[in-house]
Amino acid sequence: MKLFAIFGNPVAHSRSPLMHNSVFKNLNYKACYMRVHLQDGSKLRETFFALKLKGANITVPHKETAYEACDEVRGFGKKIGVVNTIINENGRLIGYNTDADGFMFAIKEFGTMKNILLLGAGGTAKALASRFIQESIKVTVLNRSASRLAYFKELGCSCFTWNDFSIGNYDLVVNTTSAGLKDEELPAPKEIIEPVLNNTSFAADAIYGKLTPFLKMAKEKNIIYKDGADMLLGQGILANELFVDYELKTEDIKTYMSRSFEL
Ligand code: NDP
Repeated sequence: MKLFAIFGNPVAHSRSPLMHNSVFKNLNYKACYMRVHLQDGSKLRETFFALKLKGANITVPHKETAYEACDEVRGFGKKIGVVNTIINENGRLIGYNTDADGFMFAIKEFGTMKNILLLGAGGTAKALASRFIQESIKVTVLNRSASRLAYFKELGCSCFTWNDFSIGNYDLVVNTTSAGLKDEELPAPKEIIEPVLNNTSFAADAIYGKLTPFLKMAKEKNIIYKDGADMLLGQGILANELFVDYELKTEDIKTYMSRSFEL
């Protein structure tokens, strides 16, 4: 029996155990996926080995620490220094990032995006900004504090804090902050979010399973919006392929993972 887990703080809300266990159970793959509430990110590596895990997902706020915990990081995760999936490969921890491609999967139905505003500058924002820039999309980043913006400036994004923000027109605004996850806060003061939503075609939130105050406001303004469920599904399918070392068919993984959303 292979063991997998999600590490996060908070982690009780995570749907990942349901998603992955639905795939394992229905496809008779001998594996079990649990959740681990990890307060101290520096304990990630030792906890992973103590639990004898084959693989793991990492969520807020440990994705950048997870990068440090790996022996090797491959693909997009290496480029951005953010890891959401870890595989134990013969005692070595190999890191990956499946969030950005998961998000691209989620916004396909919005059509071609040319100009995106990202709210937040954490691990998720890094992954998305780098992926958008790869697609030649113009990216603006608005964050509460300035310290994390250097990375985005270097990448070629226009960067602002709440104090110096100057608004533009956007195809899509994405909340990648954790505001609204376990509180009822907007990702920035109302005086900023209101005009932002008046100047965008679409809105998306990385948070899933609830209508955040940000999405509530988008809904009130009749803006087409989506929460983070499809992003979660996209990143989950890609992570599951890594967990089972591509032994299961992608279409089957998608079918059973999607069904878990109805539970
Ligand atoms: P990080 O901890 O790396 O970054 C959090 C960001 O949110 C920082 O920019 C921080 O600003 C900002 N922030 C935190 N609290 C507030 C607040 N009250 N008001 C305004 N800004 C705030 O988190 P992640 O990037 O890993 O995750 C962010 C969110 O995305 C989480 O809610 C997570 O659950 C969700 N997520 C969903 C996924 C999905 O599949 N649907 C996948 C990945 C993430 P500052 O720099 O000032 O501290």
